[in-house]
Amino acid sequence: MAIEEMLSAEKIEKRIQQMAQDICQDYSGQELVVIGVLNGAFIFLSDLVRQMDIPIVVEFIKASSYGDSTESSGEIKFDLWPKANLAGKNVLIVEDILDTGTTLTRVFEQIRKDNPKSLKLATLLHKPARTKHALPIDYLGFQIEDRFVIGYGLDFAGKFRELPYIGVYSDD
Ligand code: IMP
Ligand code: MG
Repeated sequence: MAIEEMLSAEKIEKRIQQMAQDICQDYSGQELVVIGVLNGAFIFLSDLVRQMDIPIVVEFIKASSYGDSTESSGEIKFDLWPKANLAGKNVLIVEDILDTGTTLTRVFEQIRKDNPKSLKLATLLHKPARTKHALPIDYLGFQIEDRFVIGYGLDFAGKFRELPYIGVYSDD
């Protein structure tokens, strides 16, 4: 097992400061509902919201795919959904990584049913090579190559989420 650092804790911190500034400028004077996609987004969300100085409400969604293959099967169910009424609200979805886009496409479809005033996406990472369902990204941390990454919330079989940096995982 080997982990090769891809993005250092310092680099991530700087990028998130900039993202938080951009978000606060765009929503200046407005309230924002920030919805993190569990489990992966918990660290990114925590660091992002602590750099924000607009009134926010934090909620979480937990989505899981049926079956347990490593690739999203396309069949998504929601194990946790915000209780807050999202009608007429500015909603920002916060995700760790946009991979095929299957999960977030379903999340967006479901949230739109609640008639939010606006709906945007902030993702720390994006692997464009893997896109199956294209989604507009409003706030992007880093575009990365098609490699399996761990740390800073991202896991391999439930592990490594606690690493303060993002690394490439390999079995050798
Ligand atoms: P999608 O539905 O294919 O976009 O899957 C997105 C989810 O797959 C993310 O929220 C992650 O939980 C997981 N995922 C995708 N790529 C990676 C990776 O490189 N490392 C860890 N988890 C990943
Ligand atoms: Mg995830």
